[in-house]
Amino acid sequence: MNIRVENTQHPSSMPGSEFGFGRIFSDHMFMMDYNANEGWHDARIVPFGRLSIHPASTVLHYGAEIFEGLKAYRRPDGGVQLFRPIENIRRMNDSAERLCLPQIPEDEAMEILTTFISHEKEWTPSAPGTTLYIRPFLFGNDESLGVHAVKNATFVIIASPTGSYYKEGFKPVRIMIEDEDVRAVRGGTGYAKCGGNYAASTRAGERAEQMGYSQVLWLDGVERKYIEEVGAMNVMFKINGEIVTPKLTGSILPGITRKSCIELLRSKGYKVSERLLSLQELVSAMTDGTLEEAWGCGTAAVVSPIGELCYKDIKYAINGGKIGELTQSLYDTLTGIQFGRSEDPFGWTVRID
Ligand SMILES: *Cc1c(COP(=O)(O)O)cnc(C)c1O
Repeated sequence: MNIRVENTQHPSSMPGSEFGFGRIFSDHMFMMDYNANEGWHDARIVPFGRLSIHPASTVLHYGAEIFEGLKAYRRPDGGVQLFRPIENIRRMNDSAERLCLPQIPEDEAMEILTTFISHEKEWTPSAPGTTLYIRPFLFGNDESLGVHAVKNATFVIIASPTGSYYKEGFKPVRIMIEDEDVRAVRGGTGYAKCGGNYAASTRAGERAEQMGYSQVLWLDGVERKYIEEVGAMNVMFKINGEIVTPKLTGSILPGITRKSCIELLRSKGYKVSERLLSLQELVSAMTDGTLEEAWGCGTAAVVSPIGELCYKDIKYAINGGKIGELTQSLYDTLTGIQFGRSEDPFGWTVRID
């Protein structure tokens, strides 16, 4: 693949260590254009800057946008590595298929990602828990208001040095069970990582925050009976020694952290069931004390312990509001592999240098 590189004339350096999330960006971005005649073309690494978009661009009117989120991790030896990037590429292509956006061949997408991150690797911070957050996104970019599969698209990757998710320490969060809004329905776009899903879930998240909760627990959109996800994370429960996580029915995002947790837990001999889990079953398990631990999982937080669930004003403490033993060990094992502090028996990491 030919990737043109135009370096910035105004290089900047990484500010201190207070990065927050997604507020500062590295000096360059990757861009590539698509049209129906030429396919993907003009792959380039260019100075980070504004995009110029036609006011009738498809993405602005019909929400034809998908994205990915992954991180580059600084190893103890100073090198930089990615965690299961091929999974992000495959998922991006699945999302593209759902939204009638053009896909990018896996090997080309991998070459683009590793070339771009190699170019920007000095922006990977090294303080504990900090990472270079990578945000690939792809959107429909026809310059007309007609509604149909697009003939033009744009693919961009930006990178943002990011602080530790757990600045104030790894601690349990309070979650409200949402019984009004739904995030996605089977047959819809729930399994695709698209901007529209986020637009639809913002209202419930805001309401939960106003009431002092960090996130909502989503129920299925058809019967409002089964547990789906927690905020923008997948969710897992330890009930009577067994790990239960909602099965991928089409309305749930197939998380790479979820997949990794399942593979890790199974390798350690735990019974992991991907199945329907009803709210009623969960409430019974909370009431009779068989719910031992609960956690959310996703790239940003890795693993996020849940200390309390609230449903119709009734509050249920989980594991006495403390971090569960298995939750902690999953967090330690996963971050150990991601940051290259421990062995990677699964071959999940990809070295950039
Ligand atoms: C991205 C995302 C997740 C987590 O996926 P990871 O690949 O583990 O980061 C879970 N749920 C939703 C809705 C998401 O957008």
